[in-house]
Amino acid sequence: MQRKQIAEWSQPFQSLPESVFWSRVKPSPLVSPCWVDINHLLAESVAVSTLLSSDQALIAASGGEPLPEWDPIAQAYSGHQFGQWAGALGDGRGLYLGVSSNKGNAYEWHLKGAGKTPYSRSGDGRAVLRSSIREYLGSEYMNALGVPTTRALALVTSQTPVLRETVEQGATLIRLARSHLRIGHFEHVYHSRRESELRELIQFAIQQLDPELIDQTNPEEVLFDRYLDRSARLVAEWMAVGFVHGVMNTDNTALSGETLDYGPYGFVGHFDPGYVINHTDAQGRYAFGQQPHVMQWNLGCLAECLTSFVGVDTLRAMLASFPERFRHHYRQTMASRLAVTTDNPRLDLITDGLASLFSVPGTFYLEGFQWLLLDEPHGLSKRAIDQNKLISLRKIWSEEKEVDLMPKALNLAPSWMLSHWLLEEVISQANVGDYSGVVSLREDLNCGISMPSLYAERFGGSPPSAGSGYHLSCSS
Ligand code: AMP
Ligand code: MG
Repeated sequence: MQRKQIAEWSQPFQSLPESVFWSRVKPSPLVSPCWVDINHLLAESVAVSTLLSSDQALIAASGGEPLPEWDPIAQAYSGHQFGQWAGALGDGRGLYLGVSSNKGNAYEWHLKGAGKTPYSRSGDGRAVLRSSIREYLGSEYMNALGVPTTRALALVTSQTPVLRETVEQGATLIRLARSHLRIGHFEHVYHSRRESELRELIQFAIQQLDPELIDQTNPEEVLFDRYLDRSARLVAEWMAVGFVHGVMNTDNTALSGETLDYGPYGFVGHFDPGYVINHTDAQGRYAFGQQPHVMQWNLGCLAECLTSFVGVDTLRAMLASFPERFRHHYRQTMASRLAVTTDNPRLDLITDGLASLFSVPGTFYLEGFQWLLLDEPHGLSKRAIDQNKLISLRKIWSEEKEVDLMPKALNLAPSWMLSHWLLEEVISQANVGDYSGVVSLREDLNCGISMPSLYAERFGGSPPSAGSGYHLSCSS
């Protein structure tokens, strides 16, 4: 007997005016689709496992007839790309499907790769298997690291040929988010001088993400304060775990404080603030160490959209508080990852010591947490690590660590890395029809990041070359 489906569905985004904010879209189906993986644990928690096990689900997830609960639309937004105003963008290959709610837990559903939309411009509306696997595993890895992120629910591949540098397999991905609202949504109406639609958007954003502010008369200042804080926290988490987003354009910056739009992302090898992952980023605008500064710049674009509601001096002063907020969140996350109290006067010493220890090429920063927390860590950094520095850092840390904070810190300390060479292995197997890498790693991540992964040990054990020098193209 089938279990009753308990998630409720709604389509709140469609309450905004259609011509300005969205267009209804009929998805375009992939040829001969098949599941690569379904994230069953997430499906259970969202109460949609029955939905995804139906025969119609594969058809719907691959761009065929939508499920009755869905009402696919593409959202319109604009944005600044690489520091330049890019004008109208929008979902060129993504569809908002609606919101599922289960016991107060609401998630927006987004189907990526289901064909062209009115915002596709010259794009084909498709996503390839390679980049979809990268997003699928990348977002689940970040979630396991305790970083706010969109989640990956299901992945489909197909026989549809999609041309990138070579011909690749077309795929679709269903991802979930608290919200897909981006800074670019605000810019879209602000820069087209649509004041009344901007007001509507602000009300909508409050309802979605900050409902406690609904009854406030002038909520925009508090709202901006919240966006600043969530973004400062997000980028602090990225810096703590060595994550490089790669394309921090304002259209890829969520107002919910979730990591959004995984393109040419990656993790630093050794701790290198200058590390640039996106090979089209010749200026290094989105280098690892630039990310806090870029997030502040992006929030400056958002502040401009609010100048009809909040005084410019107030907005400037709030924006100027970003570095301090970032430092606060960075200290908080590092403290909990290192089992030290946030007010410990030696916290910065330990944090800086960790970054310095893992700034040597041949070491891997993500392994650093286990090197500090565990007496007998193993990992790829072994040959390159400075043993004397390690011993003195561990001595300082062990004098400051709090025993009751250790379980949480140990849970968040990764026992394996989602390295580029591990991803390449998973992708090359998947390209010939073997999806066991995707399934194994996703299952391992469902159990937590501190648990060893046999698959990662087997295929991620040895890097092709030491250090971070790895670049990815934007093509996806
Ligand atoms: P991104 O930086 O990948 O988030 O993409 C920037 C913009 O290009 C967004 O409006 C995307 O929807 C759009 N886009 C990216 N790839 C494609 C594609 N293959 N087809 C249509 N639109 C795309
Ligand atoms: Mg994007």
